[in-house]
Amino acid sequence: MAGQRSLDVLVNRLPLPPASVAVPEYFSPSMLGSAAGCQLKFISASTENREKFEELPRDPAAVLGTSFHKAMETCVTDGTEAAIEAFELAILTPIPGSDPPFTLSDAIEKKTIRKLYRRLAATQALGSQGLAKSTPTGLRGPPESLRFGAELRLESATLRLRGSADLIAEEPDGTVTITDYKTGGVTDREGKIWESYRLQLFAYALMYIERFGPAEIELRLDNGRVHPIHCTERDLQEARRTITEIGLRLPPHDTVNITELAEPGTDCRNCSIRSNCVVYLSVAPTWWPDVPPDVGPLALDTWGVVEQVMLMNDKYMLSMEDDAGRKVRVEQTAKHPGFGADLIGQRLWFFGLASDVWGQSLQGKRPHPRFFHELSRGPGDSRAWSAAVYRRSD
Ligand code: SF4
Repeated sequence: MAGQRSLDVLVNRLPLPPASVAVPEYFSPSMLGSAAGCQLKFISASTENREKFEELPRDPAAVLGTSFHKAMETCVTDGTEAAIEAFELAILTPIPGSDPPFTLSDAIEKKTIRKLYRRLAATQALGSQGLAKSTPTGLRGPPESLRFGAELRLESATLRLRGSADLIAEEPDGTVTITDYKTGGVTDREGKIWESYRLQLFAYALMYIERFGPAEIELRLDNGRVHPIHCTERDLQEARRTITEIGLRLPPHDTVNITELAEPGTDCRNCSIRSNCVVYLSVAPTWWPDVPPDVGPLALDTWGVVEQVMLMNDKYMLSMEDDAGRKVRVEQTAKHPGFGADLIGQRLWFFGLASDVWGQSLQGKRPHPRFFHELSRGPGDSRAWSAAVYRRSD
């Protein structure tokens, strides 16, 4: 099932990729930042294509981000109590398909969660401003009166954009503030707001102005601290040009072979469709002996032919020859259904593992790790929270 880890994902066959994808009519502002990289990754996230791919299990930090966003929306529309209730449920419910089962509260540091609770509590006051709820599903664009609110749906046919700003509010002096909530960092090492976030906010501003006319607009990123984003007429013109160019590169409704769109490189590291991407699956092993500096470090994936299987304390240790011809080992692998001695000679694909030697150099080369693990090996050790294992698809 796309976008969700099914219960038997660990014994699933490697998903068959679609031959082609449809270029969507509309793009999401939150995805614009990735348009400069791999076009397949960018296009596969659209509503038109999402169901064609089987996504890898999501990182708990990403699941937390989604849960917090929903709770913030509830906070603005229904009040803090309802929001905290919804957030607590998300934190304490086992993540569907997690094996062995785990909750966000197991995977995420307590202080991070506490910080988010505090943010929900601090958002309480907004509920009394009578802000509108989001446009009901199926409605194309908000009605005239719905200019302010949480998750307000905006759309621009000329820019081919459609998406929801987390919060649009009107200040007492008439200024319109557009806020996007984040749960992680928003700046680079020099303290500059990431370009992808600026473009996302500029896209909301352009859509708002197109729909409701000129306005004094203030853009903000809120990750517990409010980061105002300077927005001049020139910034908006530049953003309009960038967004138009993205649209011109990808004419709507074109069906494109996925091999024409895939651009393997740094984008692969956190790409959720790696297990479906024939280009990544064929290129990555050529990187493993000495990962090119402009690509690595790579996602902690490995695949090859199983040579040895050992069961110790209910956990497996597998030795394989990977597709680059190297001997690799995957330790502390959970006792997944279907695992056993009959794996010897089979091809297995592991995604999202953990390793102690990620990114280390050796004799002038930077090989991809050869030692991986899935479950924690003791107190303080990392666990690969979003690991997935597949067999050959035939
Ligand atoms: S795995 Fe890499 S090449 Fe394939 S879609 Fe993702 S980013 Fe693009």
